[in-house]
Amino acid sequence: MSKQEEFVLRTVEDREVRFIRLWFTDVLGGLKSVAIVPAELEGAFSEGIGFDGSAVEGLSRVYEADMVLKPDPSTFSLLPWRGETEPTGRMFCDIHVPGGEPAKADPRNVLKRTLEAAAKKGFTFYVHPEIEFYLFRSGNLDSGNGSVGAPVPVDTAGYFDHVNGGTANDFRRSAVTMLEAMGLSVEFSHHEAGPGQNEIDLRYADALTMADNIMTFRSVIKEVAIAQGVYASFMPKPMPDHPGNGMHTHVSLFEGENNAFFEPGATYQLSKTGRQFIAGLLHHAAEITAVTNQYVNSYKRLWTGHEAPSYICWGHRNRSALVRVPQYNSGKSSSARVEYRGLDSSANPYLSYALMLAAGLQGIEEDYELPEEAEDNVWLLSDTERRAMGIRALPASLAEALEIMEGSDLVAETLGEEVFDFFLRNKRQEWTEYRAQVTPYELSKHFSAM
Ligand code: GLU
Ligand code: MG
Ligand code: MG
Repeated sequence: MSKQEEFVLRTVEDREVRFIRLWFTDVLGGLKSVAIVPAELEGAFSEGIGFDGSAVEGLSRVYEADMVLKPDPSTFSLLPWRGETEPTGRMFCDIHVPGGEPAKADPRNVLKRTLEAAAKKGFTFYVHPEIEFYLFRSGNLDSGNGSVGAPVPVDTAGYFDHVNGGTANDFRRSAVTMLEAMGLSVEFSHHEAGPGQNEIDLRYADALTMADNIMTFRSVIKEVAIAQGVYASFMPKPMPDHPGNGMHTHVSLFEGENNAFFEPGATYQLSKTGRQFIAGLLHHAAEITAVTNQYVNSYKRLWTGHEAPSYICWGHRNRSALVRVPQYNSGKSSSARVEYRGLDSSANPYLSYALMLAAGLQGIEEDYELPEEAEDNVWLLSDTERRAMGIRALPASLAEALEIMEGSDLVAETLGEEVFDFFLRNKRQEWTEYRAQVTPYELSKHFSAM
């Protein structure tokens, strides 16, 4: 038994933990949980806990349904919302097939494989996300039977607004306290531009830790919302006239202690490796968008402005660009980083970070040339101007994103055949269902006119 496993066993005993939840993530980013009692813990570490993988989105085909959960002791934490007495703990798990091999369809494994490929080249991948979400009044929402009334935000405040009293202050205070109690460091929290919209930025960590942290974050936000009688939503674009929920992510590669993106004296202090990484992100952006923006609704965020990117370009201070090299005050080498603004708050963080890393690494490997920086607001340019500058558009819909993804060797190799095939099948189904809808828009435009 490893030292970490011993530590978990000891903590469970000392704290009189009642249940330990084993957490894992399905291919679409849904959190799954099974609770075990402390007596099962030692066996869970040595042999794992069996479960039926065919019941979980994308994990296994029916004829190879048996799967095994192996808890990762380094992720052990108590769940603050379950109280102090007889508390509940949780660990993230790796999924294995019977016999011991890691399951290829486990999103955590997809990210681990990609991180290993980076490690072979000497790189560690660090990320920090800015996670946006809305708080709505829960009264008119009945998600129980699938019908949802028009969402009503909890306030009418905007970007960085200080709301006296107010649900948002209490909410952020409780959420940040709870996140910290679970070992997640928070950098900033503030009201965002939309009414009822908030943002919490997590302090950077390696991508695997962060993907786990994002799953924890989503649970914490939902739990705090329930406790405060409001409804939290990470939906990419819940209201047509207000900003969507982005999950802009700042990324950097480290070689040991050194930030490989930093070069003193270079333009924006950005090294050749940093430039190649951006070039890789831009080159493959359209191919990875079906994963970073995985819902029909995601494209309503991408194509209605409000500082969500629509065009594939990079810039320094340019908030219309997909990739931004932020200005950092400290001048510290560790702060050199690149912000990818495409992904939304509903993305599967394991798969998205794996693809962003793979795209960047490909840029380094193939020495892609970085196109010229976009200094203008690219939304205001004409199609002809954008074409002349070589600026392509992100996919306009889930259907288009899937078509581009299907032709991508990079995405197929990074996700592996099982996840790649499942994802395309599942998302095509979503598109087919969506396409069959007759929307209120169509009725209002055409019903009485025809
Ligand atoms: N809400 C915007 C988006 O969907 C981002 C706003 C910001 O720059 O923080 O990407
Ligand atoms: Mg924001
Ligand atoms: Mg940002």
